[in-house]
Amino acid sequence: TVSIALFTQDLRLHDNPVLHAARDAADQVVPLFVLDPSVEAAGFAAPNRMAFLADCLVDLDAGLRGAGSRLIVRRGATAEQTARVAAETGAATVHVAAGVSAFARRREAALLALFGGRLHVHDASVTVVPAGRIAPAGRDHYAVFTPYHRVWQQAPHRTVLGAPRVIRTPDGIGSESLVATGPLSPALPRGGESAARERWRRWDLDGYAEGHDDLAGDSTSRLSPYLHFGCLSPTELVARALRHGGAGAEAFVRQLAWRDFHHQVLAARPDAAHRDYRTRNDPWHHDEREAEAWRQGRTGYPIVDAGMRQLAHEGWMHNRARLLTASFLAKSLYLDWRIGAAHFLTLLVDGDIANNQLNWQWVAGTGTDTRPNRVLNPLRQAERYDPDGNYVRRWLPELAHLPGRAVHRPWPLAPDYPDPLIDPDTLSARLRRARGLD
Ligand code: FAD
Repeated sequence: TVSIALFTQDLRLHDNPVLHAARDAADQVVPLFVLDPSVEAAGFAAPNRMAFLADCLVDLDAGLRGAGSRLIVRRGATAEQTARVAAETGAATVHVAAGVSAFARRREAALLALFGGRLHVHDASVTVVPAGRIAPAGRDHYAVFTPYHRVWQQAPHRTVLGAPRVIRTPDGIGSESLVATGPLSPALPRGGESAARERWRRWDLDGYAEGHDDLAGDSTSRLSPYLHFGCLSPTELVARALRHGGAGAEAFVRQLAWRDFHHQVLAARPDAAHRDYRTRNDPWHHDEREAEAWRQGRTGYPIVDAGMRQLAHEGWMHNRARLLTASFLAKSLYLDWRIGAAHFLTLLVDGDIANNQLNWQWVAGTGTDTRPNRVLNPLRQAERYDPDGNYVRRWLPELAHLPGRAVHRPWPLAPDYPDPLIDPDTLSARLRRARGLD
């Protein structure tokens, strides 16, 4: 007998319930990945993520070969390609992880239409607690993080599974290769499960509680792209962190709960990918000159520009920089959060509909923040989270000659650096007004 393990956002051998179930169901398993053109058409297949994905597939194939198997890659509509592989191999069952995006739902519906009861959807692969598993009485999801987190901590976690040693796969199944194209950020991380596990081994979890907001210290895990593509299982990470213990582990596990939280919001409200989760009639406007200055990292606010240049260079940005660049766009410039979210999605290697759109909405005040009028003053943020100015100097060479925190207010001193898009006094007045202080 043959089964198909359809890989989606779970590109790993360790702790992969889909792969295990496919193995338990049959003597032979076809590990399959389908590159679906509707993902490309929807713009999710940005070059940075495609390059990372290509690394992930090469590494997954190598891991499978180590177990006597290999990865089959096909291009086309997922359900049809899976049906074709099932017909070629005589596969009786198909195993896939449940997803939360509108695209994942459509994919699942199309698979169900073709396979009916032969399709097995496994819900504990992509998040720690499956979306929808915990909910307040009478509602389908939590709209506030704190009560969600309380219940999430008590929720049972499944047992972590090892990587299968042997996977038997039928011979002679055709496969395609995936070549990444398009302009790439120059310093992308390497994709794949091996790189992910190496990063986890080398990363200092104990320094996380104290250091995670220090922009120049750069001491967060940088595991987000690996979590996005499922090169690492969040369930395994939680288990390992809890076993390790300490304040760093506690803070890290809390961030993984945020990830689950956003996934359960999107699962219940797939429209929140594009529409305001909560309508507030914000006075968004569209000024292409301002939007482009923000994208280019030329707003005249060094801390904002440093974040935007890190994004362009690495396809990744520090969380604190994401918060303050997003706040600057939505709450200082009053540009529609969708403009910023779209730009992040074209560059972020970890670009993720649940995490990106719902974090943007959180910052813009249209999402799940219980203090939607919260605004971040970029100058105060700079002094707090980049007190010596080292993060700004790292990313803005034209300001590298300015010492210490003078780098955060460079205007008369740096002729090559743009004037601020909004002058600091107007900005302060806007921030006070937004907070209801004026
Ligand atoms: P760590 O601090 O080491 O955290 C560990 C893991 O926890 C992360 O890898 C991530 O999976 C998860 N996590 C941490 N913070 C959050 C959070 N606020 N929400 C959800 N999960 C979190 N994260 C993405 O994975 N993809 C995105 O597209 C994305 N877009 C964002 C956009 C904005 C405007 C903001 C404010 C945040 C966004 N985040 C996104 C969340 C967060 O910034 C990143 O997950 C984090 O910076 C990744 O770095 P790290 O792996 O070193 O994180």
